[in-house]
Amino acid sequence: MAGGKQSPKDAKASKDAKAKANTKGSPPPENEEDLEQVLFQGPLFDREANLKANARLVQAALVPVKSMISDALSRRAHTIVMEPREGRVSVRFVIDGIAYPAAAIPGQKGMAMLQMVKLLAGLDINEKKALQSGGIKAEYEKIPYHLMVDAVPQRTGGERIRIKVENCKVSLTKPSDVGFPSALKDRIRQFTADRSGVILICGQPESGSTTLSIVTLHAIDPYLYSVFNLADVKGKELTNVTDFTPEPGHDLELSLDRLQRREADVLFLDPLTSPQVAQTVFEYSDRLSFVAEISAATPTDAIQKLIEWVGADAVIKGLRGIITQKMIRRLCEDCKQAFRPNPQLLKRLNLPPETSVLYRAPLPPPPDDLKAQTVEELCEKCDGSPYHGRVAAFEMLEMTDGMKEVIADGADPAEIRKQMIVDNMVTLQKDALRLVVEGKTSLEEVQRAFNAGGPAKKRPAKRRPQPPGK
Ligand SMILES: [Zn+2]
Repeated sequence: MAGGKQSPKDAKASKDAKAKANTKGSPPPENEEDLEQVLFQGPLFDREANLKANARLVQAALVPVKSMISDALSRRAHTIVMEPREGRVSVRFVIDGIAYPAAAIPGQKGMAMLQMVKLLAGLDINEKKALQSGGIKAEYEKIPYHLMVDAVPQRTGGERIRIKVENCKVSLTKPSDVGFPSALKDRIRQFTADRSGVILICGQPESGSTTLSIVTLHAIDPYLYSVFNLADVKGKELTNVTDFTPEPGHDLELSLDRLQRREADVLFLDPLTSPQVAQTVFEYSDRLSFVAEISAATPTDAIQKLIEWVGADAVIKGLRGIITQKMIRRLCEDCKQAFRPNPQLLKRLNLPPETSVLYRAPLPPPPDDLKAQTVEELCEKCDGSPYHGRVAAFEMLEMTDGMKEVIADGADPAEIRKQMIVDNMVTLQKDALRLVVEGKTSLEEVQRAFNAGGPAKKRPAKRRPQPPGK
């Protein structure tokens, strides 16, 4: 973690820290004392963390865990993965959707850190064979965070820890929060206009489909329809939606009957994971509207699964649309460069011929100019990466007459894709190009994002000491 030049003040702080640490044995990594440290404020979900009863663990691992999480937050990591591997614990930070190795910690210390994270989240540190989930309330640079912790037992023994970072100040629940195109919002409003039909949300793991399902629900006009929530939204806030708790002993059908008597129009459900629930939902889809996630990577996969569960006829009759999204890195606003695209490029990509400007990453300095700034020095905001944050491209499969025919004819995945193009539906590829035209991302990034697992060329932002007085 050797960072740039040290100011005299930093050097002194670091020397003091070393002197202090030396009285206890090992010196801390360089620069550590220059960086603001995260504050842990207790476990989430009314759990307790008994630090006193685990004083030895706390002494060994609290400081390194704090340092690791501070490092991750300062680099804008949205996921932290800790995994035992070949006698070490490897740590990866996922930043804007791309995993970067962050550390390989020697076995004993690594295992202690892993246990420490569990302890802070109020999980049972003696339980290593069952999946456990919890969270830590935290604050870093005056921003409140929820660190959602999953401890997942590995087949090879040991556990993998996954920490999902949620910035409590950033709310992503409304269509405008995530740049949901107004055309899609209008379509969703049309879907619910006759108070019937099923709208589903699907996506690859980690693609944010839970957020997307809440955004979809909020696309519905709450002043025209009465919207009820039956799902466990894990503390997320829904606007203009009435929570509904089923009576004890009532199954889904009884609950739906009751909701109908309460003149419900639209219902938000937990993800559809079983044929039974799906069958009930499609049975009621002629008198109620439903919004729910379905565990499928793509809309075509979701169609296959639905046909298996409820039959093609019910799908044709009850389904209105399936929505998915893909997260794409956003070009850094501070250093992106405009260029005039040539007409052939626009034609090849099917972009509007009047597009006069697109954006790309800044060009690297000429290699023979030794005085020129390096890519990293060019931009303080993104450290030359040159991306900062992410934007979503969307896709919506709609039940047009043509699509109904394709489904009645056996729902061949290639035919479904073809029909989406024929009927001019919004697809991920098309919507990603919208983001390019809007200047939010680059063609290179879109190409990378669609070449599954393609590597990112650039390193993530390096952790920087805070300027004095901040
Ligand atoms: Zn930049």
